[in-house]
Amino acid sequence: MSHELRLSQPGLLRTQCLIDGQWVGADSSMTFPVTNPATGDILARVPAMGTAETLRAIAAAQNAWAGWRGKTAKERAAVLRRWYELILSLTDDLGRIITAEQGKPLAEARNEIVYAAGFVEWFAEEARRAYGETIPSPVADKRLLAIRQPIGVCAAITPWNFPAAMITRKIAPALAAGCTVVVKPAEQTPLTALALAELAVQAGFPPGVVNLVTGDPATIGGELTSSPQVRKLSFTGSTEVGRLLMAQCAETVKKVSLELGGNAPFIVFEDADLDAAVEGALLSKYRNAGQTCVCTNRFLIHDSIYDAFAERLAAKVRTLKVGNGMDEGVVQGPLIDVSAVAKVEHHIADALDKGARVLAGGERHELGGRFFQPTVLAEVTPEMLCTREETFGPVAPLLRFGSEDEALAIANATEYGLAAYFYTRDLARAFRVGEALEYGMVGVNTGMLSYDVAPFGGVKQSGIGREGSRHGIDEYLELKYLCLGGM
Ligand code: NAD
Repeated sequence: MSHELRLSQPGLLRTQCLIDGQWVGADSSMTFPVTNPATGDILARVPAMGTAETLRAIAAAQNAWAGWRGKTAKERAAVLRRWYELILSLTDDLGRIITAEQGKPLAEARNEIVYAAGFVEWFAEEARRAYGETIPSPVADKRLLAIRQPIGVCAAITPWNFPAAMITRKIAPALAAGCTVVVKPAEQTPLTALALAELAVQAGFPPGVVNLVTGDPATIGGELTSSPQVRKLSFTGSTEVGRLLMAQCAETVKKVSLELGGNAPFIVFEDADLDAAVEGALLSKYRNAGQTCVCTNRFLIHDSIYDAFAERLAAKVRTLKVGNGMDEGVVQGPLIDVSAVAKVEHHIADALDKGARVLAGGERHELGGRFFQPTVLAEVTPEMLCTREETFGPVAPLLRFGSEDEALAIANATEYGLAAYFYTRDLARAFRVGEALEYGMVGVNTGMLSYDVAPFGGVKQSGIGREGSRHGIDEYLELKYLCLGGM
């Protein structure tokens, strides 16, 4: 089968950036390559922008802000709605771009586009519900109210693992609120971002409302975080970079939202439906080749069902088809780059050194390159690296526990707090454990919990703020108190 990137609308494949409504290259004319992780082929080259271009994008966003926030919520919603319809109508093309530059199987990529479009639809609706409040006055001659207003120019820095959804989850609420944006997508996956920007232009966002720059992360990030005109940074990526950007934002006291790394536990209690737990485990662990911030990083299995669960999971994992995401039937594509493969290998070697056993996979895939075998490790203990750090690959480490308290203690013993999962048929336990897990999101009897209508985000060092849901737009609004005297 041909792996060439063929699109029904070739114009979606943009290789210039969007600043003030113009498609432009870098001032230096320099570019950097975007490669297909399945084949290593260069798909395109995009601008290597830096300080000057980023400052122009910020200025364009600042100039466009008055006009955009001056529109009614209904007018802004109409443009978002058109963007949503354009994205959905090109699900297949956009999915192909994701698979080509990111590697995930085409079916998953198409699902990501539907998920990404869902945020645009949702926030088009929420734009009209940015209600304020009237406050019962403590004195007779005053009226007190609070109104919600757009915060201003917002910067969005996004990762490669969900090249479309991480952008819409941030900028749809920002645009709905009346903010303007400067986006810097991950250098591995700029083509999906540029295609979304092309559709934003077609949808009718005025020049300067949506700006997108590609290039050196530290330089662009440095300008976005130090500019006094940028009032808000929304970042999704690693905890390490999130910490750095938060510190950089301190100088100009910016509002920040951070969606960072995770170390999700997946607990299977002795009263669980084992088949359902195995299905949930497969979905949570091997989707996107394990490169998902909410994907399970460690499985905690009750002693009494450990062997049965391990056997059933390993049997299923051995049948997972690995290959180029464009090929029919492939459920696991390549990892994003060679350093991701090296990290997976390192975590497995460390576990085997400390006494773990391989039940499935364990090695690089025979396809070579960035492909890795879907892996299950047994007899894993909390000292092993794969349970302490985010592996971000297709490795399922299975730990044992004896009691609910022990499972909770292991699950909560991490600086992360993004997503957690558990399986039980005991209703009281479902509430008890759901409330005791120190995580922003908990899946009970499911391995999949992300929806546009639900609040997404972490606690502890997994982040600050929530995306999606009715709370997502709050991140882009300021509350202003009006006190009217002489009444
Ligand atoms: P990363 O932190 O390396 O990169 C994320 C983004 O930050 C990219 O756009 C990158 O170019 C940019 N960046 C890197 N260094 C920078 C700097 N010095 N200044 C400014 N920008 C900089 O993360 P990644 O490898 O792309 O993504 C994987 C990580 O993202 C994982 O830890 C994963 O858990 C996390 N993630 C979290 C969520 C969530 O919602 N919590 C969602 C997806 C991914």
